[in-house]
Amino acid sequence: MKENLPEILRAESELRDHCGVFGVYGPGEEVARLTYFGLFALQHRGQESAGIVTSDEKRLYSCKQMGLVSQVFDEPALSRLPGHIAVGHTRYSTTGSSLECNTQPLEVESSKGPLVLAHNGNLVNTRALFDELSSQGHKLQGTTDSELMAQMAAEEWEKTGDLETALANCVPQWVGAYSLVMMTKTQLLGLRDSWGIRPLCLGRLNGDHYVLASETCALNVIDAELVREVEPGELIVIDKEGLRSEKLAEPKPAMCIFEFIYFARPDSYIYGRSLHNARKRMGQLLAQEHPVKADIVIPVPDTGWPAAIGFAEASRIPFGEGLIKSRYIHRTFIQPDQRQRDMGVKMKLTPLREALAGKRVVVVEDSIVRGTTTRNIVKLLKDAGASQVHLRISSPPYRFPCFYGIDTFDRRQLLAARVRSVEEIRQYLGADSLGYLSLKGLIKAVGLPRKCFCAACFSANYPIPVPSDLKVSKFALEENEWPQEAAEKPKKTRKRKK
Ligand code: SF4
Repeated sequence: MKENLPEILRAESELRDHCGVFGVYGPGEEVARLTYFGLFALQHRGQESAGIVTSDEKRLYSCKQMGLVSQVFDEPALSRLPGHIAVGHTRYSTTGSSLECNTQPLEVESSKGPLVLAHNGNLVNTRALFDELSSQGHKLQGTTDSELMAQMAAEEWEKTGDLETALANCVPQWVGAYSLVMMTKTQLLGLRDSWGIRPLCLGRLNGDHYVLASETCALNVIDAELVREVEPGELIVIDKEGLRSEKLAEPKPAMCIFEFIYFARPDSYIYGRSLHNARKRMGQLLAQEHPVKADIVIPVPDTGWPAAIGFAEASRIPFGEGLIKSRYIHRTFIQPDQRQRDMGVKMKLTPLREALAGKRVVVVEDSIVRGTTTRNIVKLLKDAGASQVHLRISSPPYRFPCFYGIDTFDRRQLLAARVRSVEEIRQYLGADSLGYLSLKGLIKAVGLPRKCFCAACFSANYPIPVPSDLKVSKFALEENEWPQEAAEKPKKTRKRKK
């Protein structure tokens, strides 16, 4: 299977999702099947690889591969995953390449038994941790910060003899974003960094079984009820004794506000807020901040829908469809050069000429990152006969890189960083007008205090300091001889389960 298979999906918004994590503890349940459906609901968070590991308390069973959830698993694959504890993962790479050796959940062997780890987020001190582990003679099989974390946790477990103590020792060393779902042969564990950058929620299934998931939409699909969100800095352990919780770090909440704008599914809830409703309010406030005379409001499907509905309601301009998205585009694989990126937009979105010809069109999008896709969309609409195209963006200009799990490390790739003024951005995109929602408007739409959020890609106000002497890149562990070698030819110092 091609390792760059979902490239065309990436053209959708230019922002790469990160990862989806899922876990279930359910004696008597078909946990592999539940995890499959949970991962299916989390597919939007990662489309490069998918994996499930299960345990029957005697041994682990694993299936993971490059590809979408529906491509990795079928009935025979699920039937080879028995047991009553499961951890699942869908991946988009934020540290390390899109390689088979980087697929998750990761399995690390220790003298206390195997440890399974699924990670959403990104550490900012990967290089320092890597150097430390290397100086102790450790070698990694993959090229991810997630593997570093698994190795460190397993080592501490061996030293302390107790996994909860081991994780408590690791937390101060892990600087960055991590929502983890982990498993031993007998336990399911969830852990969130003290900023709570990436979401993680706890659900209950059939009375006394528990589920951990990146988003509440993954609970809905298996009929689990939401208990609560895992708190920043909290460790949750589920085993035959039940559920217990421990605070491993002081919470300093700074949830990624982009979860509200785009990443999380609109039918999910975060901080008790409906994301669909929050996005609709973003559109309403956008209409107030940037009014325009027009004939029709259209969304960029799918993620622009709620904000476009809100914009149409507040502006009293009729809402309509002007771009039709291909439902089967994920089955088309293209190479990631610029020409093919441009082609990808045309293959994915078709303009509805009947709705657009001769009309003044407001097109609502959630964000502009590199600008390539948006520029192509404006051209598509004009080519289809729109007399004017007014771009309205339901977030502020994306000017600064994200180091916490989104693939925007390089500031030079960000349109709003390269081109300083909104007018210059408008000219580059070819729109007749351009309006961004203000940060104040965004916070108002979400309805929670500003201090609850990371909004560093708009403000450069990073809640977790990023080491200035560290070249942070998703390939940080591939920029020297050893890890590249590791990526090609796995070497083992700590045995990993097959
Ligand atoms: S920098 Fe932006 S994308 Fe990254 S965690 Fe903060 S708000 Fe989210």
